[in-house]
Amino acid sequence: MLPYGRQNVTDADIEAVTAALRSDWLTTGPKVDLFENDLTRIAGAPCVSVSNGTAALHTAYAAAGIGAGDEVITTPMTFWATAGTATTLGATVVFADVEEDTANLDPYAVEAAVTPRTRAIAAVDYAGHPAEYDELRKIADSADATLIADAAHAIGSTYRGRPVGTLADLTTFSFFPTKNLTTAEGGAVASTDPALLERARIFRTVGLVRDPAVLRRTDEGPWFYEVQELGLNYRLPDVLCALGSSQLRRLGDFKARRAALSARYDEFLADVPGLRLPVTRDHVDPMRHLYPVRIQGGRRREVFERMRAAGIGVQVNYIPVYWHPLYEDLGYQRGMCPNAEAFYAEQLSLPLFYDLTDADQDRVIETLRTILES
Ligand SMILES: *Cc1c(COP(=O)(O)O)cnc(C)c1O
Repeated sequence: MLPYGRQNVTDADIEAVTAALRSDWLTTGPKVDLFENDLTRIAGAPCVSVSNGTAALHTAYAAAGIGAGDEVITTPMTFWATAGTATTLGATVVFADVEEDTANLDPYAVEAAVTPRTRAIAAVDYAGHPAEYDELRKIADSADATLIADAAHAIGSTYRGRPVGTLADLTTFSFFPTKNLTTAEGGAVASTDPALLERARIFRTVGLVRDPAVLRRTDEGPWFYEVQELGLNYRLPDVLCALGSSQLRRLGDFKARRAALSARYDEFLADVPGLRLPVTRDHVDPMRHLYPVRIQGGRRREVFERMRAAGIGVQVNYIPVYWHPLYEDLGYQRGMCPNAEAFYAEQLSLPLFYDLTDADQDRVIETLRTILES
């Protein structure tokens, strides 16, 4: 089965991991700092590595002080962790609808969803296409809310010339194998606000505080540390950070290949009937994580099944988050975000990854064309 996404691992990656395994450090050594510095050069903001993208979201919400009684506005067109980690902290998630074309959080819908209890707005850069951060920033500032970017799809993307990583107060990344680069499991939180990033660092380091300037008791001894707020062990080990730094050297190549494959899909699928292709706004330069098409005429399920039967691992991204029984049982009702539901009903992700060959892509295109023309 041709997958919809997969990692690219080279001998150089394997050597980097082997060297880390032979070193004195398996976790929380020099490779962590190196990887975080490498990430900072891409994201444009200082970064803290964490153990996965879900942990990155949990850490970002914790750093923003999100808890019971707070409302977090987010999109239903995402992997459910964007909402679920806020729910875990006791917050109430408020789903705002997405834009009809990009499937990104609609600033107008966000504005309408703001209440005095809004504490955070969490956008997702769906498929790698940045959300409308200038508009979201205005709304977040006037609501006195923290702006969070779930950029699990979008490391390396830019918006109005600025890198994803600098657009929100806190930005989260995932390095799961299907994403734009991988550390097997892994993630990061970026922020240009030193206080927020320090809170994130403490949260992912089991809440441990050692800085004498902030200790409550300063005269205990050199071994002393304090836990002042809850934290978890969300550290990313040296071994995986070594893989991450090695992968990041190829991020430009990954982006170029994803762009070239997307351009081929754009060109060769343009005239296929019953198909809508993804849009790219003029002011963004996306790292294309997914190639999401829309299958019209109620044929999405048929096309999904026939593509799979032909050995092409298409995927659906995503089930509207509030459809999950977890949220249904909390009282969320179907129909509340019609654009997201209409998008979901037609959505299909075609294979897109660095090692996808032109020949394999041609087979995807021809199979899809044959199904839709019949
Ligand atoms: C993958 C993903 C996550 C979760 O990342 P993991 O590393 O799998 O925990 C969160 N949000 C979005 C939008 C994702 O695609």
